Amino acid sequence: MTGTAICPGSFDPVTYGHIDIIRRASKVFDHVIVAVFNNQAKSPLFHVEERVHLLEEVTKEMGNVSVDSCDGLLMDYAQQKNAKAVIRGLRAVSDFEYEMQITSMNRKLNENIETFFIMTNNQYSFLSSSIVKEVAKHKGNVSDLVPEVVEEALIKKFHSS
Ligand code: ADP
Repeated sequence: MTGTAICPGSFDPVTYGHIDIIRRASKVFDHVIVAVFNNQAKSPLFHVEERVHLLEEVTKEMGNVSVDSCDGLLMDYAQQKNAKAVIRGLRAVSDFEYEMQITSMNRKLNENIETFFIMTNNQYSFLSSSIVKEVAKHKGNVSDLVPEVVEEALIKKFHSS
């Protein structure tokens, strides 16, 4: 499809589940902007700059993907970037209700920007940044869940003093 799509999220940190969604979106849209939202309510482990840096590292082979950060409303950001779509990933039924609420509100705010959902790859259905952080915190192996650069950043965050 022509035009720009936004992949918004916390990406605290980026996992193979996120990367799968970003890659698949990049095959459909001309340009994909991964937008890191600074949701302080979630008490993030990584600063926005760190999350942006990790995303840049893991998407550098994808020529039509760029990474940015954002503070305000997603719909204002999307409008400002002239995007015509927002892409979200869906894992389990549990994601559905939350996504319905957000999408309905976003449509109310700007009905010209459509939200599309990409179904997770089965192997990543139970993968989330929270699970990765929990495992890494207790020195568990996360190498199947995140790229090496992210694994190293997690080890540094939790276990170097
Ligand atoms: P948010 O705080 O906005 O939910 P996340 O970083 O948790 O941000 O997720 C960003 C996007 O990536 C969301 O659309 C989420 O559903 C999707 N996502 C996260 N993990 C996975 C996964 N394992 N498979 C598919 N999509 C995922």
